[in-house]
Parts: sequence; C-alpha cells; structure tokens
Amino acid sequence: MDSRYIVLALPVFALSILLEILLSARRPQLRYHLHDTLGSLSCGISQQVLLGFLSVGGFVVYQLVQQHASLFAISPSSPLAWVALLFLDDFCYYLYHRASHRVNFFWATHVVHHQSEEYNLSTALRQSGLTGLTSWLFYLPIALLGFPLLMWLTMHTFNILYQFWIHTRLISRLGPLEWIFNTPSHHRVHHGINPRYIDRNHAGIFILWDRLLGTFAAEDKEPVYGTVKPLASFDPIWANLSDWQRLWQMSKATSRLRDKIWVWLAPPEWRPADLGGPVTVPEIERTEQRKYDVTTPRPLNAYAVFVFVSALAGGIVFLQWNAGWPLWQRIAIAVELLWALWAWAAVVEERRGIWAIEIVRSLSLAPLGLLLPLSLKVAWLGFLVVQLAFLAAVAVPQQRAASLGK
Ligand SMILES: [Zn+2]
Ligand SMILES: [Zn+2]
Repeated sequence: MDSRYIVLALPVFALSILLEILLSARRPQLRYHLHDTLGSLSCGISQQVLLGFLSVGGFVVYQLVQQHASLFAISPSSPLAWVALLFLDDFCYYLYHRASHRVNFFWATHVVHHQSEEYNLSTALRQSGLTGLTSWLFYLPIALLGFPLLMWLTMHTFNILYQFWIHTRLISRLGPLEWIFNTPSHHRVHHGINPRYIDRNHAGIFILWDRLLGTFAAEDKEPVYGTVKPLASFDPIWANLSDWQRLWQMSKATSRLRDKIWVWLAPPEWRPADLGGPVTVPEIERTEQRKYDVTTPRPLNAYAVFVFVSALAGGIVFLQWNAGWPLWQRIAIAVELLWALWAWAAVVEERRGIWAIEIVRSLSLAPLGLLLPLSLKVAWLGFLVVQLAFLAAVAVPQQRAASLGK
C-alpha cells in the first residue's frame, strides 16, 4: 500500500475519531482511553514507517510474476477488470486473514491488530509492523492473472481503507446490508474473545466469503474485545515482538523435533503434549474483563502526549516525503520515530531508567537538524529546547521523589 494514500486519508481518520470521541463522551462504556488510543495509533504509525522498507520485496516479486508469468494481459481501462479485481482482492484478503488467525507464523504479526481491549476507530489503525513481510504472498494469484501492480495496489488500498469505519460500537445493525457487506456488527464479532466468536468473520469488504465458507457468526451479544492472552503493555515495539517470543520459547521448550517445527505452523491454541497440550478458550463476560491500564501522574501523561504528538508529526513528514531521501537518512529518521513511539509508552509505564534514556533520545534528535534547510533549522532548535525543558520539568521532580523513596 502506498503510504501517501494513507497521508491523504489522515484528515478523514482524525475527524472521524474526533467525532466518535464526542459522540461517546456521555456513554462511559464507550469512552476512549488515552493510553489505549495512543498505543493503537503508535502501532499504526510504526507500521506505515516500516512498510516502505518491508514491502519492497513483495512488490518486486508481484511485478516479476505479473510481467513474466501472467495468464492474461489485463488493462486498467477496463471497468469489468476493476469489478473483478474488487472481488478477487477481497477474496485473497479473506484467505490471508483466515490464515493469519489459524497459522502461528502469520498470527504472530496479525495479533497486533487484536491486542486492544477497546473497540473504536483508533483500533482500526492498530496494525502490525511486520505484515508487509508476508501478506503479499496471498495476492500472487492476482499477479498471475495479469493485473498490473499499480492497479492491484489501488484496489487493495481501497479495501484496507473500507475497513476503517467498521471499527465502531456506535453503529448497531444495518439491515439488509448485513447480508452482503462486512459491517461494524460483523467485525465486532471478529475482535471478540468469547469462545463462540473466536476465528469468525474474516471478511474485508464482503461478508459473503464467511457465509459461504462456514466462518460466519452473527453478533448475538456484545463481544469481549482483545486477545485471549492479553498483551498488558502499551509499548508498540513489544506489541510486534511478543508473540514471536512466545513461539520461540515454546519451540525451545518442547522436546520433539516435529513439535519444534509444528509450533510455527500450528493454530494459536495448539501446545505440544509435553507442554500441556492444546489450550481451551475460556468463557468470559464483559463485566469480568479486567482491562490493562496504568495510573500515571498527570505531568508524565502530558509529557508522553507531547512525545507522541511530535512522533505523529514526524511520521506524517516521513510518509509524505521519505521516498526522495537517501536510504541512510530514511533509516535514521525511521529509528528516531520508532524510538519516540516506544518512549511515550515507557514513560507512562514508568520503566526503569527511562529518564536517562530520554536524555539520550532527546540529544540524539539534534543532528537531524543538519538535514533541514536553514529556515527550518531554527524551528528544529526551538523544538529541541521545548523537548529538553519539558523533559527536565517532568523528570527532575520524578527523580527527586524517587530518591526520597516516595
Ligand atoms: Zn483478524
Ligand atoms: Zn479489525
């Protein structure tokens, strides 16, 4: 997916999220939670930053297959071809998404999208940073049929953007549309961890695939959202790595060679016999769920929001313009962005040593000013002064309180 389409869609995302926040303000059960929202958005920004690096290989293979092994010569000027592509891309998405829930190797990346225990429009933007490495495999049949890369990318971006609005609890049912389209109600089921909702409704745009292939479930009561084993962290880097660690540890701990390999291909509930065998998903009620959150002093929250907003602004600049930058510059700025997206979460979770790390991170931002034109160098200097002053104002009292043992 071209990140510049996402930049164009940002005002729509932002306004829709603002509207949802306003509409849910008087309903406590629907209210947004600051840390959860920032956590989801951080996963989304890091995914977009990484996508430019990780999806290149997939695009190259797609283009090679389309140019050298395709069955037909398909023209982007044919309306019929676009209609066919709408369904084809959506069906490939269904297969990719179903595999992402049934094969550990794919689930380890897709799990990120499901980790939020809330369900709102910010959850839609919670995406896995590593998806770009594997998802393209499922779309090679489209290349084989002969659809040009740009044509497929355009339709695929539309497919992904469609899925934004269905992440809401504000829309209940949509009458006859529920038969054909993936709707908020159907997708709420998909995010549910109640046993009867697990691995249901993998649709992108059309719910038809689930209805036809036996993976459909209707929403009879509101699901409990999240993952069966909660992440219990707002750290977007850990969100992307935690399931890989789970699989690695399981693979190391089990004794049979066959099981060590099968761990990576098995469904998520599978466990080797010597580690206790398969897990059953327990029944859960909404009133029983203890959602993860941390109580953070206000100044720390304010500083964390500042760090997040600066990473968001940097992320937008990166997505819009990085294609023309040298590789080393793209890598350096991507690392700073990921570091900042990690940092706000480490601040609110009050990780050990975070203030020393924040000093190092703040200083590491200084050389980036050298890349800017003269007029922007002054603005960058101003940003660095505010960053360091804010850090000092928050960190010094924290350190003093810690040394007094408060
Ligand atoms: Zn899913
Ligand atoms: Zn979703």
